[in-house]
Amino acid sequence: MQKDLDPMPLAEGCELLLVGGGHAHLGLLRSLAMRPIPGLRVTLVADELAPIYSGMVPGLIAGLYAPEDCVVELPRLTLAAGARLIHDRVTGLQPTARRLLCARHPPLRYDLLSLDVGSVARPLPPGKGPLLPVRPIRNLEERFRAALPAARAAVIGGGAAGVELSFSLRHRLGPEAEITLLPGSRILPHSGPLARWIVRRALARRRITVIPGAPVAEAQPDALLLGDGRRIHCDLALWTTGAAAPAWLRKTGLTLDSQGFIKVDETLRSLSHREVFAAGDVAAMQAHPREKAGVYAVRQGPALADTIRRLVAGEAPRPFRPQRHTLALIGTADGEAIALRGRLALAGRWAWRWKRHIDRNWVARFAALPAMPATAAAPAPMRCAGGGGKLAAPVLSGALRRLGLTDGPEPLDDAALLNPPPGALLLQSVDQLRAFVTDLHVFGRIAANHALGEVHAMGGRPLSALALVTLPHAPAAWLEEDLYAMLRGAQEVLEGAGARLLGGHSGEGAEPTLGFSVTGTAEPGRLLRKGGLRPGDRLVLTKPLGTGVILAAAMRGEARAAWLEPALAAMQQPGGPVVAALAAQGATACTDVTGFGLLGHMAEMLRASRCSARLDTAAIPLLPGMQEALDQGIRSTLHDGNEATVAGLVENPPAALLDPQTAGGFIAGLPEASVAPCLAELRRLGAEAALIGTVTAGLPAISLT
Ligand SMILES: Cc1cc2nc3c(=O)[nH]c(=O)nc-3n(C[C@H](O)[C@H](O)[C@H](O)COP(=O)(O)OP(=O)(O)OC[C@H]3O[C@@H](n4cnc5c(N)ncnc54)[C@H](O)[C@@H]3O)c2cc1C
Repeated sequence: MQKDLDPMPLAEGCELLLVGGGHAHLGLLRSLAMRPIPGLRVTLVADELAPIYSGMVPGLIAGLYAPEDCVVELPRLTLAAGARLIHDRVTGLQPTARRLLCARHPPLRYDLLSLDVGSVARPLPPGKGPLLPVRPIRNLEERFRAALPAARAAVIGGGAAGVELSFSLRHRLGPEAEITLLPGSRILPHSGPLARWIVRRALARRRITVIPGAPVAEAQPDALLLGDGRRIHCDLALWTTGAAAPAWLRKTGLTLDSQGFIKVDETLRSLSHREVFAAGDVAAMQAHPREKAGVYAVRQGPALADTIRRLVAGEAPRPFRPQRHTLALIGTADGEAIALRGRLALAGRWAWRWKRHIDRNWVARFAALPAMPATAAAPAPMRCAGGGGKLAAPVLSGALRRLGLTDGPEPLDDAALLNPPPGALLLQSVDQLRAFVTDLHVFGRIAANHALGEVHAMGGRPLSALALVTLPHAPAAWLEEDLYAMLRGAQEVLEGAGARLLGGHSGEGAEPTLGFSVTGTAEPGRLLRKGGLRPGDRLVLTKPLGTGVILAAAMRGEARAAWLEPALAAMQQPGGPVVAALAAQGATACTDVTGFGLLGHMAEMLRASRCSARLDTAAIPLLPGMQEALDQGIRSTLHDGNEATVAGLVENPPAALLDPQTAGGFIAGLPEASVAPCLAELRRLGAEAALIGTVTAGLPAISLT
């Protein structure tokens, strides 16, 4: 007997986790952007930040669209929906504890969970050959481009996707290429004879050979071996034979159908776990079985939103009935399309214009949504200040216990006790950041990396850190999770740098912030200072610039995922090994590039060293998207202040060099002979380092070439 959902504990807030940025979840998020659900906190966990709209994939492969035409930007959509976004791959589920397991992020708790993770490719035939699975669609265009050139190409799979991709290949590879479609038993097995006749004729007109009735038995380096013994020579073969279920679902305890898809009822709820929902390809609708197609996933989005609204309001959800016949529009990639519905089929240029309009409109409706702050807490009663403004003791102790900070060899005392090595110098620094991403685990990692930068810049070894945390008022369960995620991220980075998180202070505030007081040690003769530059030294920068303007763009919902991903990765790149490499090559001076921007920090070094510098502007590495964001007029709030600081020192500074950095790279002076080996070592460490200029004699000034 299925047990129904308990009433939502709304006074305490309700947490909805969405897994996968599939078509249904996009619709759900859009609905939340237009009409939020008070008291519901929504978090999307997605392993790609800009999923491709499947309807445009053939056009993308044909070269009719650029990748950015076909994607929905999840950072923008979640901002509009007031939802949090975690860029990670889900690996498992603990349904009894209501926890979701991720590849990098600590387990996430939920009250309601919805899975829209799509499907994967069916198992490939044995052998090593030129096979390119089309599912999952992620990075398909990149993988396809890497497989080119191809004079002979095949498509394996005779559904609408396989047929349309054959047309795409004809267009992309040109009239000389040999294109073969291997549909298995026959093309479009779910359509009627008229549709098959029209499609076969369209394929023949475009000289696409169709070989039905012989499955692929083996992949060979330059051919496919068919079940009847024939060999089809090809340099590239797209594998699109239908949908299989993601393997990790088998260990979740959810009730699955014989193929491994999640069995759901008419309200898209799991048959076995009533707080779990599934939509899109991954759902097996028991009352209305359908083939796997994006049109159903699209229709399920608003239905899922309605179900969640009703549950949160304490009402019974309404059943979802998928349409019996769907319209399929198969583009021929040369200005025509074939429209199929039930047993009907028509072809023409009008059909292509219609398809293009539908597809473009679908993507565009996610781009034009205004941003909304990511908060959904239950209404807050009056909050205390002073000593009463701290986080509640159970919240704190719960998180600290999970971090292993309460069960060390010695009981915790009022203050942290340090035992630095005899003769060592002590370095201390402090830094604090406001959260700029809704993934607090990633924010914790970046805040720790940012704070460690100053100790690293001086050639020190981080020893310990004390954290200063604020979190906005929220139900206790959320606060403990947030505190844990944030400090766990920080702890990972601190421990990686050899430092221990010894304690700290936490309190309530308007928004999440995290700062650290870091203590480090250094040997007296091995300090790196800002003031050590000498004329003739070469200047090396260890990270590209751009985090300030990219984060400013992200907060307005204007940063593309393709900008954010490299920026977030750069901010998490550890500084310790980088400075060690600089020091080993005889660095004369070093500092970390943070809030004052490259020119501001360069100016500090030049003033301390009493010399000048010549910078090669073209050699300074920039993060993807930085220049585009600057060209759009986006600036960080610190930008103008940074410009004022270097006025008189440098003429007409480019905006990029004034951009404040979070967890930025290091600038160091190096003897000329050390530059080449140092850059080689830095690049081996994964740093995108560059030689950016030379120290010159004279009063502090910066000339730009
Ligand atoms: C070439 C091609 C063309 C197609 N054209 C059409 C068409 O024109 N019309 C149509 O109706 N159907 C079409 N389909 C079918 C369609 O692609 C699928 O039915 C549809 O994408 C399913 O949508 P979904 O919401 O289930 O998931 P998807 O759109 O596949 O999205 C799932 C998302 O979840 C993410 N994800 C997966 N696993 C995890 C994880 N463990 N953790 C976090 N995130 C995860 C994925 O990266 C992805 O972003 C086409 C398919 C192909 C291959």
